[in-house]
Amino acid sequence: MTSAAGVVVVGGGQAGYSVVSALRGAGYDGPVTVFADERHLPYQRPPLSKQAHTEPDGTRVELVPESFYRERAIGLRLGERVTALDTAARTVVTGTGTRVPYDHLVLATGARNRRLPVPGAGLDGVHALRSLDDALAIGRALTTARDVVVVGGGFIGLELAQVAVAGGARVTVLELAGRLLSRAVSPQLQEHLRQRHEHSGVRILTGTGVRAVEGAGRVERVVTDRGVLPADLVVYGIGAAPRDELARDAGLAVDDGVIVDEHLRSVTDPRISAVGDCARHPHPHAAGLVRLESVQNATDQGALVGRRIAGSAAPYRSLPWFWSDQGAVKLQIAGLRTDTDEVRVVPGDSPDRLAAYAFRGDRLVAAETLNWPAEHLAARRLLERQVPVSAGDLTGSTLGALARARRGAGVRA
Ligand code: ADP
Repeated sequence: MTSAAGVVVVGGGQAGYSVVSALRGAGYDGPVTVFADERHLPYQRPPLSKQAHTEPDGTRVELVPESFYRERAIGLRLGERVTALDTAARTVVTGTGTRVPYDHLVLATGARNRRLPVPGAGLDGVHALRSLDDALAIGRALTTARDVVVVGGGFIGLELAQVAVAGGARVTVLELAGRLLSRAVSPQLQEHLRQRHEHSGVRILTGTGVRAVEGAGRVERVVTDRGVLPADLVVYGIGAAPRDELARDAGLAVDDGVIVDEHLRSVTDPRISAVGDCARHPHPHAAGLVRLESVQNATDQGALVGRRIAGSAAPYRSLPWFWSDQGAVKLQIAGLRTDTDEVRVVPGDSPDRLAAYAFRGDRLVAAETLNWPAEHLAARRLLERQVPVSAGDLTGSTLGALARARRGAGVRA
């Protein structure tokens, strides 16, 4: 399938990479151009918060080498930012004023970190983490930091807290809410994870806000609601907002993310798709529209749009799944839980393992597991195939055992 203007992808992260890789994989042979405002080749973000990074070249995290793009005639415009969309003319405009036409445009612009809204947040030694450059700056700072204050007890904060404590620093996590991970994990696991973090030497202060970061040029202390903490490094992870302003400025429907249909096309302009962290989409596992910040979502949505542009017509239905490595704890989530679901916690077959199953009515909708990859995979299989599992089915059993028993009995599971 050849077309004159081809496909333009805005964003060179996991989602953007997934689009172009799927496009060529599915035989699309028109022009393909990716605009990426970072200067690095598209890379994986998950490792950035899970280990200290000091390698300046970034090759350890890049998704594929430069030759991948060259061999497939994928135009990579690194360090080049798209600043406007002209949807009537089907053209993107870059920061240098260059106009590039498209037949299909894919927005894979990701999300940006919320900034720490306190005085002193701009001091040296205060870092947020999103990019490889951020990770390198934090990695360098960790080689000498003694007192690390982590602001935000979400995924990024807790992963970084474990990296810092493993490096020998004294680490305190400040979380504004009453619990850790209140956005994404069931209350039962929140408490359990808190204990594991405290056991590993991380001090956790929930219900604690930051008032200011202070120091002469660089950070020396953090002023909190509950007193002053010495700090020579502050890292914060207090959530992110979608980068949807190009779409909004172009008049596309946007509401905390670009609104797309089940094929991930903008509901305003079917020549434009949005994928990954910046897209708000319908999903068979969700009641309304959802916006998900995960590698699975970025990868699967990118691949779906790449294949669609190349001619395939399937709607987006991939099961959401997620993982977070927090020191010795591997947290994995399959499915989508809401706060009204009922949660049952089941101990694993060894002391460090645990599962929390979420039920809506009498049907399993999500499973959160700690250090139990087999159970996570069993959950994914069952949820993906929409095999009904009730709370009663799990009395004295695990999902893994259930799946095995059903297979043994000839039931498709
Ligand atoms: P991230 O991807 O940045 O880790 P999450 O949403 O998983 O995002 O976690 C962010 C955490 O930061 C949440 O637990 C939220 O309650 C917390 N938080 C938000 N604002 C503040 C703040 N000003 N101080 C401390 N914690 C905060």
